[in-house]
Amino acid sequence: MDTASSSSTSDIADNFEEITGRIHKAAETWARVPGDVDLIAVSKRQPVEAIEVALSLGHRHFGENRVQEAQEKWPDLKARYPDIELHLIGPLQTNKAKDAVALFDVIQTVDRPKLARVLAKEMTAAGRHLPVYIQVNTGKEEQKAGIFPEDADNFIIECREGLGLNVIGLMCIPPVEEQPAPHFALLGKIAARNNLARLSMGMSADFETAVQFGATSVRVGTALFGARSAP
Ligand SMILES: *Cc1c(COP(=O)(O)O)cnc(C)c1O
Repeated sequence: MDTASSSSTSDIADNFEEITGRIHKAAETWARVPGDVDLIAVSKRQPVEAIEVALSLGHRHFGENRVQEAQEKWPDLKARYPDIELHLIGPLQTNKAKDAVALFDVIQTVDRPKLARVLAKEMTAAGRHLPVYIQVNTGKEEQKAGIFPEDADNFIIECREGLGLNVIGLMCIPPVEEQPAPHFALLGKIAARNNLARLSMGMSADFETAVQFGATSVRVGTALFGARSAP
């Protein structure tokens, strides 16, 4: 049964087609290879039924922002669809690091030295050396997670060389009240000078701009699944 806040099966199917088409178009416009931009469907605070629709369409890459919510929704789905790739895109507390390493396939939000150390330890203990992104607080917002841009180079070196983390790229969430383009450009610059190939940036409102500035993953929630339930 549909509720007012969740989209119907056909809406979700239409949305996937539309968003995928817009990603391809943006990629072509900016002389990028469409297949180089990965769509991560952000399913936080969406019901499992909505995720099932995406899975039935063949979609396999998803993002969740809370460990506990993901633990309630994903173990069954992952058992049924072993090729699911689940990304943690929200802040991670160190006491949840072990659970996160057990469930997720990619951790996008490595944002501070203590978390990096705990993740390295838990990955070694679990024998799961997951790819990770470093989250950069490009807008230097106090309430937002992420390493400050001026500290990013040293932190990346520490994560890779000091801790042996498999750092594959950078992630950012620009300030809501600002144009995202300068933030995407800054993230791209930091990645380039650190030889990092992947950029996770762009959400429902700005994923085309993110593609313009080199995003290799865009994280789209509402534009695919409709409005989320209240937190
Ligand atoms: C919720 C969330 C998204 C998706 O946002 P939409 O505006 O719904 O597309 C993307 N990235 C992060 C980190 C999020 O928390």
